[in-house]
Amino acid sequence: MSRNNCRGRFNRYSKQGQGQGRYNNKRRGFGKKSIDTSLYIKKAEEFVNIEDIETVNSFRDFNLCPELLANVKAKGYLKPTQIQDQAIPHIINNRDVLGLADTGTGKTAAFALPIINKILNNQNERIIVIAPTRELAQQIEQEFNSFTSRLRVFSALAIGGAYLREQINKIRRGPHIIIGTPGRIIDLGKRNVINFRGLNTVVLDEVDRMLDMGFINDIKSIVDQTPNTRQTLFFSATIDRRLEPLIDTFLNNPVKISIKTANASSHVEQDIVRVTRYAKEQKLHDLMGLASFKKVLVFGSTRRIVEKLSRSLVQDGFRAQGLHGGKQQNQRQRIMRDFRENRTRILVATDVASRGLDVTDITHVINYDEPNNYEEYIHRIGRTGRVNNKGYALTFVE
Ligand code: AMP
Repeated sequence: MSRNNCRGRFNRYSKQGQGQGRYNNKRRGFGKKSIDTSLYIKKAEEFVNIEDIETVNSFRDFNLCPELLANVKAKGYLKPTQIQDQAIPHIINNRDVLGLADTGTGKTAAFALPIINKILNNQNERIIVIAPTRELAQQIEQEFNSFTSRLRVFSALAIGGAYLREQINKIRRGPHIIIGTPGRIIDLGKRNVINFRGLNTVVLDEVDRMLDMGFINDIKSIVDQTPNTRQTLFFSATIDRRLEPLIDTFLNNPVKISIKTANASSHVEQDIVRVTRYAKEQKLHDLMGLASFKKVLVFGSTRRIVEKLSRSLVQDGFRAQGLHGGKQQNQRQRIMRDFRENRTRILVATDVASRGLDVTDITHVINYDEPNNYEEYIHRIGRTGRVNNKGYALTFVE
């Protein structure tokens, strides 16, 4: 394991200038259901506490800088999750990593901790983290920030939506870590704000999702501009044929780590609710009237449905909001914050919210409209039953 110089401790005399759907077409005679409804019914597996999962290392064993270790402790992480247990030693040793792991497994800290440690040992390290959605990029930044308090490690966001000027100014100050979405990263590269040649480490998070969203050429163009000597960390929930060429070209003799057991959906009790199209809305209102539905994420297939449902819930006296891609970035952030901080009890969303959304205490996911495919279903229900919590997922079926 590499030696720790830990030169990045925050010097209080240094300048802190950087501060841091489709609508499911199930009308009679049109199209077919693509998902067997029996897949929506499943008992939650015996509840496994994250701290009870067998791991080899403790955080101390990673030889992290003491200040970083103290921040990990302050965050309340008692022991590494499986992906952290397996990935951190290799990342510290500069190996490329191919990680098969979904959100909910602790994969953000699995790359964040060794990256921060690298920066503490060498202030010249420059890292880019590429994520599919703005929300995920923001969450990753929050996780980084929670580990870098009082350390001389700076990050900046490069995400679509508002604040272009602000982002440019922050990135021009030379943060160690840039976290962003492909389109904005490319844009900032073209404006000479991001210098890809100066990057030592590239993290690609949820690559399968990025491919689904049509970012393949963007990712290639970014990675192609980075030095061949870089370290590459590549994370995906699934590995399929489309990813293989990317794995071959981006990664250099990677360590492969597959975490399947910590699948968040194993903590989710899943069932269907039989209801006709015409009675669906009322059924949702009835369920929301039950006290056990403490914090609920409802998936609708279109922006229109999301708007309509959230409005009717509010009219009925529920604290509900709607989230979809048609909303402004600052609105989306506010809505997410309200939900996270319990000002909103019910979030109605399109699949924009189905990945990355890390709210640990969602009690129920309701698929008001069925997802387009099973993979999307798994991502949706993974928003409940997060680390150390049991969750419930109900799917409305005609
Ligand atoms: P992620 O898979 O990175 O989205 O993490 C999922 C959740 O697990 C987040 O809420 C993290 O704060 C939490 N988490 C990550 N690592 C640990 C750990 N070692 N112990 C407890 N919770 C953790």
